[in-house]
Amino acid sequence: MKLTTWGACGTVTGSCHLLEHQGFRLLLDCGMYQGEPKNDNYDPFGFDPREVDAVVLSHAHLDHVGRIPRLYRLGFEGRVYATAPTLKLIRPILEDALKLMKEDIKRARRKGLPVPELLWEEADVRTLLERSKPLPYYGARKIGPFRVTLRNAGHLPGSAFVEVQAGGRTLVFSGDLGNRRKETLPDPDYPRVADLVLSESTYGDRPHRPFQATLVEFAEVLAQTLDGGGKVVIPSFALERAQEILFYIRRFEAEGAIPSVPVYVDSPLTTRISEIYGEIQEAFSPLVQSFYRRGIDPFAPQKLRYTQSVDESKRLNFLEGPAIIIAGSGMLSGGRILHHLRHQLPDARNALVFVGYQPRGGLGHRIIEGAGEVRIHGHEVRVRAKVYSLGGFSGHAGRDELLDWLTAEPRIVLVHGEDPARASLARALRARGAKVTRARLGQRFEV
Ligand SMILES: [Zn+2]
Repeated sequence: MKLTTWGACGTVTGSCHLLEHQGFRLLLDCGMYQGEPKNDNYDPFGFDPREVDAVVLSHAHLDHVGRIPRLYRLGFEGRVYATAPTLKLIRPILEDALKLMKEDIKRARRKGLPVPELLWEEADVRTLLERSKPLPYYGARKIGPFRVTLRNAGHLPGSAFVEVQAGGRTLVFSGDLGNRRKETLPDPDYPRVADLVLSESTYGDRPHRPFQATLVEFAEVLAQTLDGGGKVVIPSFALERAQEILFYIRRFEAEGAIPSVPVYVDSPLTTRISEIYGEIQEAFSPLVQSFYRRGIDPFAPQKLRYTQSVDESKRLNFLEGPAIIIAGSGMLSGGRILHHLRHQLPDARNALVFVGYQPRGGLGHRIIEGAGEVRIHGHEVRVRAKVYSLGGFSGHAGRDELLDWLTAEPRIVLVHGEDPARASLARALRARGAKVTRARLGQRFEV
């Protein structure tokens, strides 16, 4: 087998890798680059999409699936394989990405800036869904000359790492590896000893904060703020983080640790994904499945409300009394969260709770650093609400877990990590005798 790394080299987005054997070309993931610059998504793939025979997807995050519709647009005609939950989840993810691209274009037009073309359109997503095939965990499947097996990565519902065998050799592609401390998802499986492991390295330089400490702090912040009559605003990603937050709010409520207050999920994408959760119950941990079996929705606190229209969303600005508001975007790069911050940050009774990564230089980072005033939608907004950043909710394996997962592997190629994280993980792996490469874009490997 020949492997070429065509994305996520020194970055944590744009996952895309090509595997070749006997003239058959199998792509592992084909994700979007996120954050700035977005232009990389328009660059040529590095290979001809018309010559790709099939795609296998690790999981439904946009940085692993977001360029597949573009692949079809540029002439790819093959099939896309992934677990059934992943195939269900990619539809709202891609439709939301298209909506955001269209908004970007409108904004550029309004401001007289160069107007970017759409990476792909509805028709390309339809083609993708028509051409997709579900693949169960653990059942080996022949795809061209390859034998492909998906195993549980514990990172999202339906997430997988991919084992590929051909010509007597084995390659394992980690996709994104989950955080073993998560209660809502199954633990990641361990890989077999492979000839080459293509592994993520997102947290290669740091372990996570203990999860129990995060939960204790989260419950305390909620109780204090709500008991004091304040509102808690939580910016969140729509897929998995938002539902996990709802899972713990429901638990704290059931334990009597926090009062039962209205919980507003103000994100149409989160709403769609939460609907899908009920249809993919087998993709969750035994704990979550046991709730479903007893007829309890584990992701629904007592007074849960999903808001849909923009008017409903804006009415939340005039809400009286304690409440929890969960909205996107998780990194404050746009979306409904911004008008909530504008209205809730000036009130000292309120709390803003970060449960996900905030990029350096972004609005969230400035608030965490203690800015007394920030600019939102052209208004100066005083920050009087208390600000908390809870570090333990990461959906990725920490450094200790990556080292554990890669324990027996003799040859490792690192992708999907910033360079300090990759370098630190590479040093630790080499120290115990593994051959490790930090992949460059377009680098070729003989498996
Ligand atoms: Zn991911």
